[in-house]
Amino acid sequence: MAFRDVVGHRRLLSLLSRAIARDSLTPSLVLSGPEGVGKRLTAISIAQAMNCTAPWGATPLGVTREADHIPSASGGLIIDACGKCPACRRIARGMHPDVQTIEPGESGAIKIEQVRAAIDRAVFRPFEGRKRVTIVDQADALVGPAQNALLKTLEEPLPASVFILVTSRPDTLLPTVRSRCANLRFGRLLVAEVAEVLERSHGYSRADALTAAAASDGSVRRALDLEADDFADARSDAEDLLQVAGRDPRARLEQAKELLKGGGTPASEREHLSARLQALVTVLRDLGLLASGADTRLLANLDRQPALDALLRSLGGDRVDRAFVAVTNAQDALDRNVSPKVVADWLALNVH
Ligand SMILES: [Zn+2]
Repeated sequence: MAFRDVVGHRRLLSLLSRAIARDSLTPSLVLSGPEGVGKRLTAISIAQAMNCTAPWGATPLGVTREADHIPSASGGLIIDACGKCPACRRIARGMHPDVQTIEPGESGAIKIEQVRAAIDRAVFRPFEGRKRVTIVDQADALVGPAQNALLKTLEEPLPASVFILVTSRPDTLLPTVRSRCANLRFGRLLVAEVAEVLERSHGYSRADALTAAAASDGSVRRALDLEADDFADARSDAEDLLQVAGRDPRARLEQAKELLKGGGTPASEREHLSARLQALVTVLRDLGLLASGADTRLLANLDRQPALDALLRSLGGDRVDRAFVAVTNAQDALDRNVSPKVVADWLALNVH
């Protein structure tokens, strides 16, 4: 794992690369942003770029050479880890003497003892590499006293030592901790980027990767957690409902039954309908994007583009807008505990 292997976030990565090349990276960092977008991988890439024995783009003295020998795929990166030397490999495996990660234990919290031990190790000069790197993964799990124990180190950084706090909930860190760190905010990934990670690193086929990515909300973690088949079913029901939008009310009410099939209990019907409403939102949002001529790379349902093009032609933009309002109201009604059957019928009658 090196910067060039992290998917997305090019501007942020090139910023980090430049700071490392100039040896000007701030020693106290927070990497924040949604779960599953590559924050921890970036932290590991930072540790590698700092300790790699044969980094791309740098002379042994740390002076950057012309970067023309870096493949163009690494666009914007001034320095990057080689990913292959023993140092890089040991950092990736969590076995490098100068790179340590602390994370929540069984209790779900990061305790003060863990932080104290990490600081004790961080005071030594690097054994093998150039910098000691301490990664605090899920830093929001730091208990209050553990955060306070970190404060002094963040404020008066140890020489040749870097602390990187990784969190999807930076607001749970004490203001005193946040104010002592530079905050790098990661955004969501594009659907195509999530699909790329699923295909490259998790063995998904192209088709499965695109379907799972469609429901991922820009997070690889979320794509891996959800049942892609369930989403594909929900989306297919959503498209079917929109297909009959121009037909008579009876046909639409008949189609509404598909929104409820869920095993019979009210709870399972509610869950089934809720998944279909979520799928409708992603499909309608995509139809709105297509109608406005937006960049198709922004589509959530990239894998369904031809079907969505056809659907948009048969529906027309006005109907898409009306349907969006109807689905939002249906979601509100479901949240207010209106019966799923009433919501499904109301929705079918109002998507017209
Ligand atoms: Zn290396």
